[in-house]
Amino acid sequence: AKADGRKQIRFFDSSMTRDLARRREIEVELRKALRDDQLSVYFQPIIDLQTGRIRCFEALARWFHPMRGEIRPDEFIPIAEDSGAIVTLGNWLTAKAARAAATWPEDVRIAVNLSPLQIKVPGAAVGILSAIREAGLAPERLELEVTENLFLEDSMNIALFIEELSEAGVRFVLDDFGTGYSSLGYINQWPFSKIKVDRSFVSGGQAGTKSDAIIRAVSQMGRSLGMEIVAEGLETIDQVRAVREAGCTHGQGYHFSRAIPDYQAALLLAEEHDT
Ligand code: C2E
Ligand code: CA
Ligand code: CA
Ligand code: CA
Repeated sequence: AKADGRKQIRFFDSSMTRDLARRREIEVELRKALRDDQLSVYFQPIIDLQTGRIRCFEALARWFHPMRGEIRPDEFIPIAEDSGAIVTLGNWLTAKAARAAATWPEDVRIAVNLSPLQIKVPGAAVGILSAIREAGLAPERLELEVTENLFLEDSMNIALFIEELSEAGVRFVLDDFGTGYSSLGYINQWPFSKIKVDRSFVSGGQAGTKSDAIIRAVSQMGRSLGMEIVAEGLETIDQVRAVREAGCTHGQGYHFSRAIPDYQAALLLAEEHDT
């Protein structure tokens, strides 16, 4: 039994070493990918649950590696955050997403995910504003999705950053609500126009469950504060009906569409415009 235990430990060790090696490789290759234009931006629609129309697209990074195939954001975004590459990635993605959004109808917004590190860079707010100005996108059409993690950092920077951008008209969205150290304090303190309820709360989709009660409560609170409530990860029509009935104003998920390239997003919008 003792020998077995040692073997297991050794096996665990070598798989940890492998993981670390892959991490380091990905870190190096990500910098190269950013230089060589291996990354793409995909767009996932966010739908108004009353009208069924597209109100927004969330910009999501995609990496199609020439040798390794697709590397998922769940793998490379945390590595980019640890290595600092997220700043370059974020600037690149914001500019690219804003240029795409500038070609869409004016009532369709673009949402970009923002990592805590990105706002620590001096001039971060000005950088975002000049990127959208260069793209010809009105600040009111940009939404920045942040998670509760942001507020674990130095609050002075955050206050200035949020103030500067919201005064310019940029909107802030509280992402993945319910997964972190969700505190109502954040909603009270910061000017969020939207809450995205994490996918884990919609997975069931049945009325009468705990998740359903939480979605109802969050929707009710959000609405009375004048916020929009987006349900994430809607995969079935039953889930769509359930969250609409629970009071969510918007929905996002594979039931409507996966994240798609810019030309397909433009096609979706054109089809909608014709009907
Ligand atoms: P997120 O911000 O919560 O983005 C939503 C994720 O849920 C996306 O995964 C999307 O493809 C996925 N999703 C959407 N609808 C469904 C559904 O119906 N079912 C299921 N099972 N999943 C659905 P993705 O694109 O793999 O991104 C994962 C995470 O990586 C994102 O989570 C976000 O936190 C991060 N991320 C992606 N792109 C960027 C980026 O450009 N910058 C930053 N900072 N983070 C990013
Ligand atoms: Ca997001
Ligand atoms: Ca989310
Ligand atoms: Ca998420």
